[in-house]
Amino acid sequence: MGIELAVRPYQRRFVTPLHTAHGLWTWREGLLVRLRDNSGRVGYGEIAPIPWFGSETLEDALTFCNAQGGEWRAETIPDRLSATQFGLGCALAELAEEGCSVEQELAIPADSFANGDLCGLLPAGETALDLASQRLAQGHRTLKWKIGVHPIGGEIRWLKQLVETLPSNIRLRLDANGGLSIDQAEQWLAACDRINATPQSAAIEHLEQPLPPDQIEAMKALGRRYRTAIALDESVATLAQLEACWAEGWRGVFVVKPAIAGSPQRLQAFCHTHCPQLVFSSAFETVVGRQAALAVASHCSSAPAPALGFGTQGYFVDDWDTFTPAELWDQL
Ligand SMILES: [Mg+2]
Repeated sequence: MGIELAVRPYQRRFVTPLHTAHGLWTWREGLLVRLRDNSGRVGYGEIAPIPWFGSETLEDALTFCNAQGGEWRAETIPDRLSATQFGLGCALAELAEEGCSVEQELAIPADSFANGDLCGLLPAGETALDLASQRLAQGHRTLKWKIGVHPIGGEIRWLKQLVETLPSNIRLRLDANGGLSIDQAEQWLAACDRINATPQSAAIEHLEQPLPPDQIEAMKALGRRYRTAIALDESVATLAQLEACWAEGWRGVFVVKPAIAGSPQRLQAFCHTHCPQLVFSSAFETVVGRQAALAVASHCSSAPAPALGFGTQGYFVDDWDTFTPAELWDQL
């Protein structure tokens, strides 16, 4: 017997279902995997697909894992199974480090991040104005606001009001989730440029995914005409897409969700070779994937790193955020 592979599915219910491009997201489903070698050493990993964001489905991942027959035979995992590549890649890395997990090796406890390192989330619409001061009181210094939900005139007006209420050291990310037209993206970028030209006001860090995922060339053109940074998110769900955008000359920001990007080793190698501008983000993983994703972010980031998009604790009705990976495994 080589390395034993065990798989445990999980389901978690969001406190409040999330609005996504594919409707309401009520349950987060995924798989925990555990590899165990002859000497009893173990490595945990998490496969947390988001198929509507570009990864495989949970069923694809489960089919691949079940086909291994309870044993890991060092098979290559195809690129279309990017979340599976991440989960098994992390479990293998933990095993290879002789039971020393990635974050221990880094000497950075993965969840030692304070809110000052994490991006705080604001709800879409005018409610953001009420919630911003709460997020600041919680220690966040970077805030993210979803746009493209209400008519653009009102949203840009709320943005100006929001910026007026924020201290000047606060950074704001605007996320359009690919929902703007070119004309709307230009209105937003012009408004952001005006705000960023005012040194005593809070800064717009970037406009995230203004246009649909395949409109890279149009976003490159916008990037040349406006000073506010543009970040790709939906366009680069997987590392293969990120590599392709890099090869096509995108030098703006990339948002990376390590849990669905693919092999963590390959992501780290890409970062060390090219030093792209990256913002790391959660895929609503459990503690297993979260610790591994934050460790990857620590490996890939250069100081000063932008705030981590991991302000997602407390989004589920269960108490799993308080567990260690081994405790969570035993619970399932
Ligand atoms: Mg986004």
